[in-house]
Amino acid sequence: MRSAGRIIVVTVACTALFVAGAVWRGVTWSDVRHWGTPRNVIESGGETVRIPTAAGPDERLLPAVTSTTVGSYDFLFPDGGEGGGPVRYDPCRPLSYVISPAHMPEGFETIVKEAVASVQEATGLQFVYDGLTDETASFDRPLVQPRYGDRFAPIIIGFESEDQNPELAGTVTGLGGSSAVPGAYGDSRYLRAGVVIIDWEDVARIEDGGGGDALARAVVEHELGHVVGLAHVGDKDELMHESNLRLLHWGPGDLAGLALAGSGGCEAR
Ligand SMILES: [Zn+2]
Repeated sequence: MRSAGRIIVVTVACTALFVAGAVWRGVTWSDVRHWGTPRNVIESGGETVRIPTAAGPDERLLPAVTSTTVGSYDFLFPDGGEGGGPVRYDPCRPLSYVISPAHMPEGFETIVKEAVASVQEATGLQFVYDGLTDETASFDRPLVQPRYGDRFAPIIIGFESEDQNPELAGTVTGLGGSSAVPGAYGDSRYLRAGVVIIDWEDVARIEDGGGGDALARAVVEHELGHVVGLAHVGDKDELMHESNLRLLHWGPGDLAGLALAGSGGCEAR
C-alpha cells in the first residue's frame, strides 16, 4: 500500500483589484485596519477573489502540543509560513471538515472522525465536523465556494476508485494535501481547503484482508498528516513513510512533526 501526498501551490497576485473596487463583499474591519494595503487575491474557480479575512479572537483554540518524542518528520512547505516557519494551518480558527459520501465504505464516517480526533490531539488544531457535502473531492476545487459562504472551503474527505482517479492507480491508497495560500494581507502563507481522497476499493481490500478498521484509520491519518503539512519520510517506523502495511499508530517522528504542524502562528485580523 502506498500513499501519495499532493502539493498544491497557489500563487499570490497583489493586483489592483482593491483599488479598482471590483468585487467581493464590502469592506471588513480587517480592511480598515490595513487601510491602504491591497488585500491579497487568488484565482479560484476561474475567478479572481479577494482572500477572506481572519475572523475571531487572536488566540489558540486549543493549547499547543509539546512533543517529547524524537524521530523523522518533514514538511511539504518548509518555509513561507507565519514567522518564517513551515506553512501551517492557523491554530486560532477551527479547521472545518466535510465528507463527500459517494462510495464511502460502510462505517467509514466513524473511522474518519476517529482519524480526525487523533490528528487534533497530536496537533492541538481544533477540527469541527460540518457534515456531508454534495461537493466532489478534487484537488482542482475552488478554494472559495458560494456553498460554504465567505470563507475558505472546508477540508473535504472523499472516496474514489482508480478508474475514477488515475492517481490512485496501483497500490496508492489515498491522496492528501492542502493549498498554501497567502493570508489576507502580507507575505505569510497558511494551509487552506485541504483534500483527502481515499481509494475505497483498496480500503475494502485492507479491511477484508485482516487489516481491519485500525489499518484503514491509519490510512486516513496518513493523508490527514499531509493535509496539516507533513511530507513523507524515509523511516519505515513512521506513519508518514510513503508505504505502510503494518503501523496502526503514529510513530515518534510523526508526533514531533504533528506537534510542530499545530504550532504555527495565528493570522492577524
Ligand atoms: Zn503520503
